[in-house]
Amino acid sequence: MRPIPTGATAPIGAYLKYPGSRLLLSCSACSWSKAYRPEAVIARLRQLRGGGHDTPLADLTRRVGWNCPRCSRMRWRFELAWPDDLDPREVRRLANQIRN
Ligand SMILES: [Zn+2]
Repeated sequence: MRPIPTGATAPIGAYLKYPGSRLLLSCSACSWSKAYRPEAVIARLRQLRGGGHDTPLADLTRRVGWNCPRCSRMRWRFELAWPDDLDPREVRRLANQIRN
């Protein structure tokens, strides 16, 4: 995954500016990470009435209530990132889909 430098104050909804991007949860102690689809995270937040598009990445990080499966610490960071295998044509297709 290639992180997108939006900063922790960016809302989850910023993913719309980066079609095809994922929400990457990573442990800053050992670099374990897991990618999520932003749409799924937003849907889950809405379900829990815990936020949505406007929720900043930093707030999302605070909601993680479990320890890192590798190092057992809780030093999480959420950021937007590009999957390594993302095809530029797929990016254009998604960008058009979002516009329409
Ligand atoms: Zn860890």
